[in-house]
Amino acid sequence: MSRTKSAPTIPDPVFGEVVPLLLAWFVAHARNLPWRRTRDPYAIWISEIMLQQTQVKTVIPYWERWLRALPDVRSLAEAPEDRVLKLWEGLGYYTRARNLQRAARVVLAEHGGTFPDDHPALLALPGIGRYTAGAIASIAFNQPAPILDGNVIRVLTRVFALPGDPKEKQLNARLWQLAEELVAAAAATKLVNRKSQIVNYSGPCSMLNQSLMELGATVCTPRAPTCLVCPLTVHCVACRTGRAEEFPQLAARAAATERRFVVAVLERGGKVLVRQRPAKVVNAGLWEFPNEELTDLEADAAVSAAKWLGLSAATLKPLKPVKHTITRYRITLDIFRIGAGKKSLPVESGAIWSDLANLEHLAFTSAHRRIVRQLA
Ligand code: SF4
Repeated sequence: MSRTKSAPTIPDPVFGEVVPLLLAWFVAHARNLPWRRTRDPYAIWISEIMLQQTQVKTVIPYWERWLRALPDVRSLAEAPEDRVLKLWEGLGYYTRARNLQRAARVVLAEHGGTFPDDHPALLALPGIGRYTAGAIASIAFNQPAPILDGNVIRVLTRVFALPGDPKEKQLNARLWQLAEELVAAAAATKLVNRKSQIVNYSGPCSMLNQSLMELGATVCTPRAPTCLVCPLTVHCVACRTGRAEEFPQLAARAAATERRFVVAVLERGGKVLVRQRPAKVVNAGLWEFPNEELTDLEADAAVSAAKWLGLSAATLKPLKPVKHTITRYRITLDIFRIGAGKKSLPVESGAIWSDLANLEHLAFTSAHRRIVRQLA
């Protein structure tokens, strides 16, 4: 394999040596995560989608609850969308949940409910990209399909001391190629010791891919990687040259954009007004309190809310503002509790008056769920 000019003195790691080290390390050190105790491609798929953008410790209870409620492809395909969104509530990026259901319906209609085991058929399913297809194919079916996520990118750019932005086309292609060569080498490896707390390995391809992800998550961390306990210390070019934290060389993120909303918690007869977001918008199908975005970030929130609702600012009772960040947006919600009385209000279609107990059964965005908690 060719080397970069920036690290001329240390030879590239040899796959024949790296792969057995990774497999042995994974057997000894892999975390005993619930989705590692199954080879069910449906369960593995759900875990992989949940783990995108979300930490393991957050995902575990969600995954367990989901598998109890919707244990197979058919139950997901046939579930009401409200139920699917409710099970996903709090995980964010709700397109993932909708795509899970769309894909389950395709598996039911086109594959008789049996999860496809080949990479192209997996890639054809809604919401399944190259990474997820590779993860399901390798973890559930032990196929030599590569995976490349943030953890794998970190390990590979360090082990091979690869400069440049991993999102840039040429380096990204190189990383996929390395991931492919590593899992192909694993496929040719005979496992000699499979004793582990984890009993359901489908084979060396599954273990190799998971070992790269696990190493990135637990040892080769973004800051202060623990090279001393890493199985690849001897082979890792970045570690041997004292440059581990120089990789990956990610491009700087764009600065976050501030957004402000005023939110109305309208109350009447012990009920509050909530509305369901329409189809084909962000967070479609989720519930929220009526709200309006402020175009002037410096505007007085109470005055703006009063003007929007056609009420006097003196009738608005402020609640604690909610701040949250989604992708590149830093959002502030200024919330006002309002006794609606008999006055006519700008109540749109799709809105309902709900008692507080019923709000627990509706799927809210995380920010609006925090408003519900303030009402309890
Ligand atoms: S030796 Fe250090 S930098 Fe290299 S892969 Fe291991 S933890 Fe990461």
